[in-house]
Amino acid sequence: MDTILLLLHTGPDGGLTRAARETVAAGQQILRDMPGASLVAGVVGGQVQPAIEQLASSGASRLLAVEGPAFGPARHATDAAAAAALIRSAQATLVLAAGTSRWSRALPAAAHRCQGCIDTHATGWAMVDGSLAITRWYYRQRMEAQLRRTPRPWLILFDPGIFPPWDGAPGPAQAQRVEVDADPNLQRTRVEGVQAPAAQAQTIRPDADLLLVAGAGWTKKQADGRAHVQEAEALLLDFLAKSRASLGSSKSLVDLSGEGEAVLSFLTHLNQVGQTGSTPRHPKGLATCCHGEEPHAVGWRFIHERRAINLDPGCGWARGKADVLYVADAFAVLAAVNARLAQAAPPAPGTPG
Ligand SMILES: Cc1cc2nc3c(=O)[nH]c(=O)nc-3n(C[C@H](O)[C@H](O)[C@H](O)COP(=O)(O)OP(=O)(O)OC[C@H]3O[C@@H](n4cnc5c(N)ncnc54)[C@H](O)[C@@H]3O)c2cc1C
Repeated sequence: MDTILLLLHTGPDGGLTRAARETVAAGQQILRDMPGASLVAGVVGGQVQPAIEQLASSGASRLLAVEGPAFGPARHATDAAAAAALIRSAQATLVLAAGTSRWSRALPAAAHRCQGCIDTHATGWAMVDGSLAITRWYYRQRMEAQLRRTPRPWLILFDPGIFPPWDGAPGPAQAQRVEVDADPNLQRTRVEGVQAPAAQAQTIRPDADLLLVAGAGWTKKQADGRAHVQEAEALLLDFLAKSRASLGSSKSLVDLSGEGEAVLSFLTHLNQVGQTGSTPRHPKGLATCCHGEEPHAVGWRFIHERRAINLDPGCGWARGKADVLYVADAFAVLAAVNARLAQAAPPAPGTPG
């Protein structure tokens, strides 16, 4: 009989992160289709009690924890040791974890130490002839494969955003401690701090409900024969600040900077969506001033509801790539939408402007 281990690391507050709660949802779904299997949760962190209490109603029959200051920061050596200890203690045959940067670095080592195997970037699962299979994409999201493995333990890292995060009621719960020797040799790497862009400069927001895509049209000559790049910047930044959407871009727009043309200053190649860019996951997407050519639109594979604004009624979005195409001037539409958003959420008293 299978033992499914949910391998979870805590957030900075000791609680479960969104990605960890998605892993819990994955485990619950898989457990339902595996008669006789059991669910165990294993938590790693500096202090884990908030996470353990959140797991009280998760359906896990055992709660295990590796806890201590050495296990607070993300560090390959201590994380791999903690994960391997939890897998052994649970006698896990299947190990589910979120594809966070922390687990993606440490779990291949844990799989090797437990003589198991690991798959990353899993995007789904199914039962095939009574055994678990996972799905993942290859070749820039153009081919989907279904995989089964015979070695155990089998570690599976699911990409974030696949499962709705579990949100069960917390309650009193205690974890069984799993001791791991945090040898000083394992702690030679120290996390000295986190460098992150200021909140307003951070335009890529994987958890946002909406992806706003900006295309090269924002920098092109408009009806008056002139380009309006500064106006475009202001409109897009205003929309992003008000909606908290994530910002994507077409390749043409981010490439323009390399050609010395006027571009939107806050865009980098990290924003690029498409065949040679990213394939983000958001419930909704809105493409603006972007033509919707296949190499771009292929990056929208995981966007559920797609809309586009383009002056051209014959653009790519009109050919089955969007659910709704607004044939309109994106400058005018975004200005009107920003005005509505401002009405919906007036600035707090005392806020300038
Ligand atoms: C091997 C290969 C890989 C590629 N990979 C990618 C990739 O990963 N991602 C990607 O994006 N592209 C990729 N491309 C490029 C892709 O084919 C397109 O060239 C690119 O997506 C076009 O960008 P765009 O739509 O922003 O620009 P354009 O094609 O220039 O379109 C601009 C659009 O803006 C519209 N517009 C202008 N003004 C307004 C206005 N005021 N209101 C509304 N609409 C307006 C125009 O009607 C036009 O449709 C790849 C190409 C190749 C060959």
